[in-house]
Amino acid sequence: HHHRTAFEAANKGFVGGKVPLGIKRKGLRVVVTGGAGFVGSHLVDRLIARGDSVIVVDNFFTGRKENVMHHFGNPNFELIRHDVVEPLLLEVDQIYHLACPASPVHYKFNPIKTIKTNVVGTLNMLGLAKRVGARFLLTSTSEVYGDPLQHPQVETYWGNVNPIGVRSCYDEGKRTAETLTMDYHRGAQVEVRIARIFNTYGPRMCIDDGRVVSNFVAQALRKEPLTVYGDGNQTRSFQYVSDLVEGLMRLMEGEHIGPFNLGNPGEFTMVELAKVVQETIDPDAKIEFRPNTEDDPHKRKPDITRAKELLGWEPKIPLRQGLPLMVSDFRKRIFGDHSDANP
Ligand code: NAD
Ligand code: UDP
Ligand code: UDP
Repeated sequence: HHHRTAFEAANKGFVGGKVPLGIKRKGLRVVVTGGAGFVGSHLVDRLIARGDSVIVVDNFFTGRKENVMHHFGNPNFELIRHDVVEPLLLEVDQIYHLACPASPVHYKFNPIKTIKTNVVGTLNMLGLAKRVGARFLLTSTSEVYGDPLQHPQVETYWGNVNPIGVRSCYDEGKRTAETLTMDYHRGAQVEVRIARIFNTYGPRMCIDDGRVVSNFVAQALRKEPLTVYGDGNQTRSFQYVSDLVEGLMRLMEGEHIGPFNLGNPGEFTMVELAKVVQETIDPDAKIEFRPNTEDDPHKRKPDITRAKELLGWEPKIPLRQGLPLMVSDFRKRIFGDHSDANP
């Protein structure tokens, strides 16, 4: 069926797409839920730079005003303190739905809240998309594959997920969010997009969020030992945040629903990651082994063939190039040099 172009979307409501002179809108009206968080704030920067009007909806559970403060005073930028578990009325063209804590430490802090955010929050944003005819993009996760029995993970793999474990509020929550998204697409003709994001790092990550890259970088800078959980042979694939944002925008603007894996196929064991952090920050940094957490996936690596073919997208920044960009941001935030607060 017919897909609206960005221009038509921005001016819908005018019969035949003919827009009376003088009331043409310049950019799209875009909502970014979770826009004060790590990924969301980088996405907001790109959308604002493109000329869109951006509304950030965030309850500041893990997000920070500092991440978007540089847009305060810009008439194209609005920030609403709001919890997506409550209904919300807005008039918009696109919804990037990111609101949800992403670090295991954060999402396990209040698991009931996490699953409510994933289920009720996603339902509300889909209800909003349905009411105003907006296009809706869900940021799902590689965790929908659970502890995968297939390697690397392809989008057609259904996953190996524990429904009653300590990570379930997040991975089963995101699986339900994907289901809701497809049901609103099939049942209510909402235009939807689904991204399955693999581990992403970069400036503005919470310094003490417990994720492995932020932990290792902060530890090395503070001259503390790098804490490797378990034997350190489990693997992850690390994507730099600007690559992810490019993928999300291509997905939103493109014609394909997905799901699409968005990740960097460069795979590292946690011991290898610790070595890259040593090389980058401090060759004398010590490594300390700690017991691993429950239900930790053993390996994870995206197959990105589908995104390459249909979105023309692939990551550009390898770990050894992206890590220093994050380190300089962490250095400033940890040691209090605010000469450049907006990386
Ligand atoms: P983040 O924690 O930095 O950002 C999440 C944002 O959502 C925060 O600003 C937080 O305050 C907000 N939020 C949380 N619950 C909310 C609620 N109920 N109502 C309103 N706002 C709420 O995490 P991130 O790394 O930026 O992740 C963004 C999205 O990408 C999440 O949906 C996450 O599941 C997904 N994702 C991220 C990664 C990654 O490696 N960063 C990997 C897979 C998926
Ligand atoms: N909703 C919202 N904003 C809107 C429209 C709907 O937050 O602009 C919420 C609404 O409160 C409901 C959910 O989205 O809880 C699903 O809405 P839908 O219209 O699909 O279902 P219904 O309201 O009929 O249950
Ligand atoms: N991990 C680690 N040391 C840390 C934090 C995490 O070795 O200080 C490991 C963790 O056990 C997991 C991997 O790093 O195997 C990735 O964990 P993270 O919380 O960053 O993300 P996940 O992919 O599990 O969501």
